[in-house]
Amino acid sequence: MNLTLAGEIICDAVLTLAYPQICVICSRSVERRRFGVACESCWQETRIFTDGDEICLKCGSPGPPACGRCEVLAFTAARAVGTYKEALRESALMLKRRPYLPRHVEELLVAAALREPISVSTRVVPVPLHPKRLETRGFNQASIIAETVAKALELPLDEASLVRVSSPEKYRTGLDVKGRRDTVTGAFRVTHPKLVEGEDILLVDDVFTTGATVSACADALLEAGAKSVFVMTLARA
Ligand SMILES: [Zn+2]
Ligand SMILES: [Zn+2]
Repeated sequence: MNLTLAGEIICDAVLTLAYPQICVICSRSVERRRFGVACESCWQETRIFTDGDEICLKCGSPGPPACGRCEVLAFTAARAVGTYKEALRESALMLKRRPYLPRHVEELLVAAALREPISVSTRVVPVPLHPKRLETRGFNQASIIAETVAKALELPLDEASLVRVSSPEKYRTGLDVKGRRDTVTGAFRVTHPKLVEGEDILLVDDVFTTGATVSACADALLEAGAKSVFVMTLARA
């Protein structure tokens, strides 16, 4: 065991005594701070995608190489750390409340970003929140993920080029794929086309649900001259 790891374990032990952390899924104690809101055994139950998984080569959904549902989506390819369940779901929910990623989640994100085909990306762009929502929440959860990935991969983090222009009131839940796509079409605009021109963009969001939001972002980025738009999310529904 190296000194850094030993130090981390001792530090975790002290913190666990001082501030006992209960796993939000099974209520057992979380011994290691690096796991965040879930315990190690709940993380083991959580589906994390690996190179051996059968997935749609474009949208990354588990199943055959062409799922038949994602042709209309504008991005080049999308990948996620794993399924929006168990520890990944809880971590994504926590990230909406606190601008912080536990070490384990950071490592999973970086590993996912280093896998083909999204590993060729040259510039990291988070899906922007509407300014009004950003004001209420205080931070953009997609930016927290984008920061981590950009830093680890030593890529430029670009939070300026892509902006959300439509009002968040237009956003409604319970819509089908087409309905959702309609509400986000034209919702994003590239303000600095020179910065994205010819780049392989790594577009980052917390959760991939229908893909409508990232597709609308990809539309704007590709129209502004981006060579490709790869999508990476913490989880996919
Ligand atoms: Zn647990
Ligand atoms: Zn697909």
